[in-house]
Amino acid sequence: MAMWNPWRGCKKCSEGCLHCYIHKGDARRGIDTSNVHKTKNFYKPRERLKNGNYKMKSGIVYTCFSTDFLIEEADAWRDECWRMMKERQDCTFLFLTKRIERFMECIPEDWNNGYENVVVCCTVENQKNADDRLRIFSKLPIRYKCITAQPLLEKIDIEKYLDDAELVVVGGESDYSARSLDYSWVLDIREQCVRKNVSFTFRQCGTHFIKDGKQYRIETKVLCSQAKKAGIDFVSDS
Ligand code: SF4
Repeated sequence: MAMWNPWRGCKKCSEGCLHCYIHKGDARRGIDTSNVHKTKNFYKPRERLKNGNYKMKSGIVYTCFSTDFLIEEADAWRDECWRMMKERQDCTFLFLTKRIERFMECIPEDWNNGYENVVVCCTVENQKNADDRLRIFSKLPIRYKCITAQPLLEKIDIEKYLDDAELVVVGGESDYSARSLDYSWVLDIREQCVRKNVSFTFRQCGTHFIKDGKQYRIETKVLCSQAKKAGIDFVSDS
């Protein structure tokens, strides 16, 4: 597993961005997050060791986790990234986006039905964004599709968009003033996934977590482990 951030910086574009961890971290360090710029790691997938081997190991590469891969400001740089992804067939590149409506204008000419080694995760947080984005996402030529509902802000129905999804990831928000996550919403999405035989992962509880009508405050360091303890992940048998 590797991380690759060819650029950094982002602009809030959605309700789920309210407590974006990148903006929060940058604010503490006095960095202007809206300044989208290439990083020194831009060519990381292509860098080699003295013995000729690639520096970046084979396997999953979490791409653009401190920005959005489809952000407009990176339009001039993205084609080079696609070329590097194509070159590294030993890696699987995975990125998340809240800008899926830009997808078709961002792909390379030889994309066809999608590169075999690219996983695209469409992020949604409420019913409106789920309908707007997943309606588009479900029709896009992408080999491997994931849906991320984190931070989940309300009960959502996404069942009709699950036909070609590989995985749905659900989680709450982590922040002092986080919006609450109701466990019943999580279970409801899980049921939708089970009915459609789509894998499901409960990634993290929310700082403010509601279960059986009771509100809990959960420490940041155990948000993920508590979700795992729930034992509700589902693996598709297809
Ligand atoms: S799109 Fe993602 S990275 Fe960009 S502001 Fe929103 S939450 Fe942060």
